[in-house]
Amino acid sequence: AGILDPHAIRRDFPILDERVHNKRLVWLDNAATTQKPRAVIDRLSYFYEHENSNIHRAAHALAARATDAYEAAREATRRFINAPSTREIVFVRGTTEGINLIAQSWGRRNVGPGDEIVITWLEHHANIVPWQQLCSEKGARLRVAPVDDRGQVILEEYEKLLGPRTRIVSITQVSNALGTITPAREMVAMAHRHGARVIVDGAQAVSHMRADVQLLDCDFYVFSGHKVFGPTGIGAVFGKSEVLDAMPPWQGGGNMIADVTFERTIYHPPPARFEAGTGNIADAVGLGAALDYVTRIGIENIGRYEHELLHYATHALASVPGLRLIGTAADKAGVLSFVLDGQRTEDVGGALDREGIAVRSGHHCAQPILRRFGLESTVRASLAPYNTCEDIDALVDALHRIQIGRSR
Ligand code: PMP
Repeated sequence: AGILDPHAIRRDFPILDERVHNKRLVWLDNAATTQKPRAVIDRLSYFYEHENSNIHRAAHALAARATDAYEAAREATRRFINAPSTREIVFVRGTTEGINLIAQSWGRRNVGPGDEIVITWLEHHANIVPWQQLCSEKGARLRVAPVDDRGQVILEEYEKLLGPRTRIVSITQVSNALGTITPAREMVAMAHRHGARVIVDGAQAVSHMRADVQLLDCDFYVFSGHKVFGPTGIGAVFGKSEVLDAMPPWQGGGNMIADVTFERTIYHPPPARFEAGTGNIADAVGLGAALDYVTRIGIENIGRYEHELLHYATHALASVPGLRLIGTAADKAGVLSFVLDGQRTEDVGGALDREGIAVRSGHHCAQPILRRFGLESTVRASLAPYNTCEDIDALVDALHRIQIGRSR
C-alpha cells in the first residue's frame, strides 16, 4: 500500500477486463506468463504500421527504422540488466533457447570427460536437460546442490560440490516452483573461486527484483521477455564480452557472417555471431517497450509491493483447512505453491478456473524439486504488480468453498 497503486497498473492491462466463465478474471498465473500492458501492444502495432522491414540498415528508409528500433531494444535490455555493453546482449527466443545456446557453444568447447557441471535441486527443466545432454555427449558429470525443507539451497553443501573439475555452474535466481530467491551473488563468487563459469537463470527474477549482472558478477544471465510483460518468442542472453568473444557460433546462416566463400566463413563478432537468420525483430522491440514500462513503475517498487502481497497471501492461505504451503524460504518472490489435503491439484485448478481464477496446477517443469517434497504436482498462484488483495481474497474464499464442498 502506498508503494504503487495496483488499480492504476491494472488499467494499463486491457486483458484484465476480460470475463471468463462469466466471472471477473483473476490472473494468478504470472510465473507461467505475464500479461501485456497497452504500451507493449501499441509498440507492436506501431512497428508493423510504420517500421516493418528486415534489418539491413543501409538498404532503405524502413530498413533503417527497423534496425534502429531493434538496436534501441538491445540498449533497453542492456540498461535493464545493467550490462556494460550492448555487444554483450544476444537476442534469443527465451530462457530455454538461451541456456541451450550456452550449453552448445560454450559448453561443447569447454567441457570434457570427467568435468563437472553444478546445478541446484530448484532448477526448471530448461536448466537441467541441456546440461544432461552435454554431459552425456562429453562424458561429464552433473552434480546437484540440495535444498533444505523450506526450499532454500544449502550453501555449505553447494560449496562442497565445487572443485577443480567444475566447469559450469548454472543456477536459478528465483525458483518458478517455490518462489525461493537463491543467494545467487554468493553462489557466483564461490564458483569463481574454483574457476568455473556461472550462468544465472533470471526467468523468474526479472519481473520481481533488480537484475544487475555486474553486481551478480555472473558470466551469463538469461531471461524470457514474456515473463516480464513482453511478447512471447523473445528473450536475451547476457554474456561477458571476454567470454562471448571466445565462443564459436551456435547456428550458421545469414546475419552472423562477415564474409562467406565455399572454403571458409568469417563470422561477425558478438552479438551478431549468435543471431543467425532473421530475428524476432518486432517482439524484440516489444520487449524493449516492456522493460521501459517496468522501469517507469520502478522494479524496486514492484518488488516491495509484491513482497507485501506475498505476506498477505501467505497469512490468508494459512486459514484454509488442510492447505500445505510448499516452499517457505525466508527470501521468496511472487510464488505461492500449495496442496490441499485430500484434493487432486488438477481438480483444485479446475474448480478455481470455474470461478475465473487462473492458477497453474502441475509440475511446473520442475519435477525434481516437487519430488524433493514428496509431490508430483502443486497448485501455484503467482503474483504481478496488477494483483490486489481482492485477488488473494477471491482465491482464498474459493479454496474455502472447495474444502467445504469436500467435507459435505
Ligand atoms: N527457467 C525458469 C526458472 C522458468 O520459470 C522458465 C519458464 N517457466 C524457464 C526457465 C523457461 O523459460 P521459457 O519457457 O520462456 O524458455
